[in-house]
Amino acid sequence: MLKLFRSFIDALLDFVYPPTCVSCERLLRRGQDHVCPECWASIRQVSTGLPLYLETRDKLLVTGTVDELVSLYVFEKEGHFQKIVHSLKYSGVQAVGLEIGRQLGALLNEKGVWADALVPIPLHKRKLRERGYNQSELIARGISGVTHIPLGSDMIRRKKFTQTQTTLSLEERRNNMEEAFFCESSEVREKTVILVDDIITTGSTIQSCAGALKKAGALRIIAVSAALAE
Ligand SMILES: [Zn+2]
Repeated sequence: MLKLFRSFIDALLDFVYPPTCVSCERLLRRGQDHVCPECWASIRQVSTGLPLYLETRDKLLVTGTVDELVSLYVFEKEGHFQKIVHSLKYSGVQAVGLEIGRQLGALLNEKGVWADALVPIPLHKRKLRERGYNQSELIARGISGVTHIPLGSDMIRRKKFTQTQTTLSLEERRNNMEEAFFCESSEVREKTVILVDDIITTGSTIQSCAGALKKAGALRIIAVSAALAE
């Protein structure tokens, strides 16, 4: 009875406030979730010959901590992807994170990429408190649903800083960044791990996470991101 009442209320709300696309604000049809298919289709996709992909991959692979890079979309300012990811990070639309993850999972299946665990980049404690969820973890959950690779969310942790970063020199800050993560899990030994991020820009965060996992004995690190940004 309660269920029936709830679906009646949902239908009524949809009638009064019809669901619209978070990016283009067009009315959504039944079965379309937060983003219309036209918006998804219009986002530029990463190809393996794309200069931005090649440059980012070189940057990540040069130190030997990251072994491979797989990304789906190109992050363009004012583009559809920016609006979609904005809804995920700042408007609480968590379903979008899961959907991006499912798309990434399909791409990994297509490429035949396999790993022992999916590890999302941990969010700052303060940000996690503000947002209530880690968007990279939602993406990782979406990937896991499609690929059946297990989640290893607690394999990596952020170090707490007692000193404020702003009084430090650039060099000191860089060193801090390099050691901002640690891994105490013995489960990563000899394992292939997929590190999941929403957007890779400089790659320094993913590098330091990969470094921490390698230090703990991980064999191979595949960096996977929803998007690449310049
Ligand atoms: Zn749209």
